[in-house]
Amino acid sequence: MDYDVLILGGGIFGCAIAYELSKYSLNIAVIEKEYDIATDIEIINSTIVFDGTIAKNDIMSTLEQRGNVLIKELAEKFNLSYQPKDMLYLAYCDKEAQKLQKTYEDAVDRGIENIELINSKKVAEVEPNLKKEVINGILSRNTGIIEPYDLALALAEVAFDNGVNFRFNEKVLSIETIAKGSIITTTKNKFKCKMVINTIPQKNYDIEDNLIDEEYKAVRRKINYFLMENEGDKKLSNIMLSISENNQISVAVPNPNSTVGAIIHDDIISMREAKDIIKKQVKGIRNNYISAYYSDTYYSDTIIINDSYVDKGYIKISGKNYSEVTMTPAIAKIISETIRENIKCTLKKDYTDKRRDIFKFRDLSNEERQELIDVDKKYGNIVCYCNKVSEGEIVDAIRRPLGARTVEGVKRRTGAMQGSCKGATCLHKIVNILARELNRDVLEIVKDTKDSNIIVGRMKEFDGI
Ligand SMILES: Cc1cc2nc3c(=O)[nH]c(=O)nc-3n(C[C@H](O)[C@H](O)[C@H](O)COP(=O)(O)OP(=O)(O)OC[C@H]3O[C@@H](n4cnc5c(N)ncnc54)[C@H](O)[C@@H]3O)c2cc1C
Repeated sequence: MDYDVLILGGGIFGCAIAYELSKYSLNIAVIEKEYDIATDIEIINSTIVFDGTIAKNDIMSTLEQRGNVLIKELAEKFNLSYQPKDMLYLAYCDKEAQKLQKTYEDAVDRGIENIELINSKKVAEVEPNLKKEVINGILSRNTGIIEPYDLALALAEVAFDNGVNFRFNEKVLSIETIAKGSIITTTKNKFKCKMVINTIPQKNYDIEDNLIDEEYKAVRRKINYFLMENEGDKKLSNIMLSISENNQISVAVPNPNSTVGAIIHDDIISMREAKDIIKKQVKGIRNNYISAYYSDTYYSDTIIINDSYVDKGYIKISGKNYSEVTMTPAIAKIISETIRENIKCTLKKDYTDKRRDIFKFRDLSNEERQELIDVDKKYGNIVCYCNKVSEGEIVDAIRRPLGARTVEGVKRRTGAMQGSCKGATCLHKIVNILARELNRDVLEIVKDTKDSNIIVGRMKEFDGI
């Protein structure tokens, strides 16, 4: 056997499962078709850590509740940027209020603690920046926001440091079950392994078609995202969510300098429509100050961990859900238990549950910055002025375990190019640092995927320079 366990797909599921299994005496690899982990994860860096209140069924709710607790533990352990933020589920008319009452009763039955059904007066006290009067609301003190990529990367880095092999730029082509395990064929290799954990979302990587979650065929709604600036003193204190009579979901998530708005609708809506919906609900949204707007597919499938072929060494996770990040640590624990019931293994004696330090120049005091610069002068050279990201951080992002190989990889790891200029002043510097550190020509540096080169050629007249 080449491996005990092969994890197909290096998304957040793949990374979390690799982390859980790296604690045991197993030979593990993750196969990912892109140059980096978790490339599918949301580009707006403010994933909500849900609490199970609005989950569509009890199983999803339990996974959210368990994941919610585990994410807080992981954030503490790996120094991740988790911010506790209360969540207000709001009703603006009598019908919505009736629905909300039912949601509250269901949440209590699901054993969710720290939630309260509150009247409009209390809602206004808790969130003074609401514009429209509500009938009532549920206040949850369980929720928060986390940077999902940072979570995935922390888990992957610790898994890597504990011996998991991450195979990037390698696409799974087929899965074949044999007497004792599986043969996985990729664009580069053929591997034999005892167990396969398939996290690849598409159906054609299943060993049997009947494993496919029926909900894959469901009509997909659209999520319309935008990032808006708030007026100085009118920042939201809570995450807000309301579901209208016609099932349109509005979400507003406070970030340090902005509000992330999201409208889940049957279709894509215009930027103006989306903004108007949120503007009616929240005070202080500046009129022409949307810095990002995009639409994506909204998923609310039931996540299915299908282990009906576990005796053949195959587990498939299917379905996509808006709270996948929240559920992921709980799902990884379930998978880890199943694997341990099926393959003999023991806890590693030399396992290290620690992530190597990361220094974020912008979060340090001047004394700490000076100490860092004394050790490495690159920390004194600011590359991204908007977000105060230094050359030292970019070099570290490239050199550390599972280091960045692409511009997007540097952006996600360091926050460079995510400020108001969107990389206009630092993109070329980052391309040059990547080329220098990876010992490549600048022409070879890509944005994210193969063939997404940033610089496509030299101008003839400058060839000699
Ligand atoms: C609009 C939106 C908003 C969301 N908001 C939230 C939120 O607020 N809170 C929350 O908890 N969650 C949220 N989520 C969920 C979450 O961000 C994503 O769904 C999650 O990151 C997906 O992770 P994954 O590991 O399942 O899937 P993916 O990231 O899709 O992982 C699959 C991996 O497999 C790789 N792959 C595919 N094909 C192959 C192949 N043939 N060979 C090798 N590798 C392959 C892909 O490159 C990918 O890396 C949101 C999702 C969406 C879409």
